[in-house]
Amino acid sequence: MSQETTSKEKQALEIIHRIKAAMDFEIKHQYINAIGNTGDFRTFIRNECRKAVLLYRDSQNWQSIFVLIDRYAFLDLPSRMNICKKVIHILNDLEEYYSSEITKEEITKPLAVEEEIIDPSLDISKLDIQYFKGVGPALAAKLNKLGVETIEDLLNYLPREHISYSEITNIKDLQIDQDATIMGRINRISAFKSPRSNLIILSIFIKDTSGQIKINKFFQGNSSHFYLKQYNAQYPTGAFCICVGKVKAEKNSNQKTIHNAVIELISDDFSEEDRSDKAHTAKIVPIYPLTEGVSLLNLRKIIHKALKLYKNNLHEFLPDFVISKNNLIAYDQAIEEIHFPSSLEMKNRAATRLIFNEMFLMQLRFMQLRRHYKKDKQGIKFNCFENGLVDKFINALPFELTYAQTRVFYQEILPDMVSSQPMHRLLQGDVGSGKTVVAFLSLLVAVADGYQAAIMVPTEILAEQHYKKFTEWAQALGLNIGLLLGKQGVKVRREVLAGIKSGTIDIVVGTHALIQESVEFNNLGIVVIDEQHRFGVKQRELLARKASQADDRQLSLKNDSKESESKNNISVEKLFMTATPIPRTLTLAIHGDLDMSEIDELPAGRKIIETKIVDRKADAYKLIKSELDKGNQAYIVFPLIDESETLSAKAATVEYERLSKTTFKNYKLGLLHGKLKDDQKDKIMQEFRNKELDILIATTVIEVGVDVPDATVIMIESSERFGLAQLHQLRGRVGRNDKQSYCLLASGSSSQTSRERLAIMEKTNNGFVIAQEDLRIRGAGDIVGLKQSGLSDTALQGLVDQEELLVYARNSAKQLVDTNPELEGLARLQNRIKQRSANVMANAG
Ligand code: ADP
Ligand code: MG
Repeated sequence: MSQETTSKEKQALEIIHRIKAAMDFEIKHQYINAIGNTGDFRTFIRNECRKAVLLYRDSQNWQSIFVLIDRYAFLDLPSRMNICKKVIHILNDLEEYYSSEITKEEITKPLAVEEEIIDPSLDISKLDIQYFKGVGPALAAKLNKLGVETIEDLLNYLPREHISYSEITNIKDLQIDQDATIMGRINRISAFKSPRSNLIILSIFIKDTSGQIKINKFFQGNSSHFYLKQYNAQYPTGAFCICVGKVKAEKNSNQKTIHNAVIELISDDFSEEDRSDKAHTAKIVPIYPLTEGVSLLNLRKIIHKALKLYKNNLHEFLPDFVISKNNLIAYDQAIEEIHFPSSLEMKNRAATRLIFNEMFLMQLRFMQLRRHYKKDKQGIKFNCFENGLVDKFINALPFELTYAQTRVFYQEILPDMVSSQPMHRLLQGDVGSGKTVVAFLSLLVAVADGYQAAIMVPTEILAEQHYKKFTEWAQALGLNIGLLLGKQGVKVRREVLAGIKSGTIDIVVGTHALIQESVEFNNLGIVVIDEQHRFGVKQRELLARKASQADDRQLSLKNDSKESESKNNISVEKLFMTATPIPRTLTLAIHGDLDMSEIDELPAGRKIIETKIVDRKADAYKLIKSELDKGNQAYIVFPLIDESETLSAKAATVEYERLSKTTFKNYKLGLLHGKLKDDQKDKIMQEFRNKELDILIATTVIEVGVDVPDATVIMIESSERFGLAQLHQLRGRVGRNDKQSYCLLASGSSSQTSRERLAIMEKTNNGFVIAQEDLRIRGAGDIVGLKQSGLSDTALQGLVDQEELLVYARNSAKQLVDTNPELEGLARLQNRIKQRSANVMANAG
């Protein structure tokens, strides 16, 4: 086919050259309709045009030349001049188009003729890219930087996106509200500081052959100079770029602009090759993430070549039934189509298959882990539940358990604990839903049977709080509670460690100090991990390992009684709790190895926390005062500035001093931040709890778990800097009893988007809804725990766009494990899983 096209285009070019020669002749003779070897000028042109029209039947251009020239002989001189000018213009365009078609053919040709025979059993994950024809050591070094070391890596180096030329719009043709892609050069950039706010506006002017457009980007900051310098480097004048986004009219003028534009620089060779025919073809080309010294065209060529040679070395690793059941395309086909799609539909199917791969492998790994917990390990069969400890505690509680608390404890946790399989359960529940009580009940089950229990929390403030509450609860039960923190004095610590070792301490509350080397239990039965999303993956992994490996003395069952002979197989019960409710599918992606429980109800009498965006600080202070005057308490919270607790501590301190002297001089204020000494932190928290302080000015150290029931108002400064989920956590510090509570969102930015985001907080108190919104706005990459899941960016995006795919992948994984638990005869699949979990561990950080 390509052969034919080429010659067709070559013929057309020959026609153009003949007509141009005749034009020259005619012009030289002053437009007299000169007579040449084959008749007059007009007839000659008409004959040539006819040939061209036969080649390109639907070409408007050739037809218009035909029409233009038709009446040539009957017109006056100026009209003849005009016609010649027009015809030459059209011919020039046509000439450019045909020649570019031909060059393109020639560019791809050497790739097409390469015909080597490669043994399909050759393992391409062992073929160093350096020795691939056309690469060599210099380019290989650059590719290595992109993580591409082998042929397999190269084929799995996926395009960031594709551009379909039919989708590129001329700047002058942009329509309001269109999702547009434009392509052009950066003409200039400029930056200035908005007079009204702390905002730098960076304007990037992009130009194509049809016009120019200004694109604004906004940054928080003071020095426009600084940003201009930085962004001059990022968007160099003259650079060729692609820009994608929604077309909008600028607020103060009628100019069109592109909102939230994504601007990507592309190399020049890209443009030379592909630009000329953008309107004419529907070709879809891949755009790869690049590094310095690797051009897009070059990378595309290498990948193209590698695909041609090694496609047969891409082996299917999914069982047939998984492929057919989920209507997937084959693995090799998916790789080929993701690079060079034959159509948009195939591109999408390829992406789906590749995302499915990752999700399936992840879920299969989870299933194996589950099997390992459940089948290979023995749990403790707790049986002393009848001794009355649990009932005694419940009867002494000043409130009734909610239905959800009761259900989760009696129907989900308790059966796990009395069964011979160890518990691995995740307990989700919105802020304030009362997870602590359920945790304590679970700890009691173990204690009632003569075991020890531990709860691990992410902050010292929270550890102190649980310790206090547990001590209070335990008094009537005659139990001994211990507290283990990282920075305790040597003497205190030694005492606690001794109590844990000898067994005099029944329940120990601690930070991650609990999983340190020196902690030895007498006979640990259960570990609860509170706010588990706040722990690093590594810590979690460490805990899981320590808690299930009895050789490790820590957190393990070190006892001399009946279990000792089968020690290595005994695993303590584990309950993970999280207050970050995330959509169910995401839970599966992070915690697919755990059983799930959910407290989906708040204690009775809770009022909806009234949430307001603060327009005038004075109004906010007025509300705070009126709450304080009713005997309630307030928080004022400062965000983390530039990832630095020092800076945020400073901001909080300044405000503390200002407010103590001015607005709230008649009240008692406390200051709490991460830079304070531990005993200092303790003292302040204690004073706030005891109502010796009215207002607590704090950094986000109070974010998780803090429970002071009389606090009814929280004001959050620079709230636009927080993620929605975090705001929801902070808001959960109030509304912890039946009083009406308030959350005030102050914001340093008046931008529309940040206001829209905050408005979601005004609208709903439901953590699940907020998590969903966060996911929509910020993407899956920002959800805690997902980054470490080992999923690629594409798959993470897939979790947002193709939620159901994860469920399919999980179902298929389950079906496979149910029928073939050891994955017999599926060596390729086993290899993939191994590879994957190695990668996840390497990236756990
Ligand atoms: P979270 O789920 O956010 O950890 P907590 O366990 O800290 O919530 O509980 C929040 C507050 O609600 C605490 O003061 C707790 O004593 C109280 N609480 C827990 N369960 C109930 C209930 N069933 N009825 C009334 N108050 C409850
Ligand atoms: Mg809690």
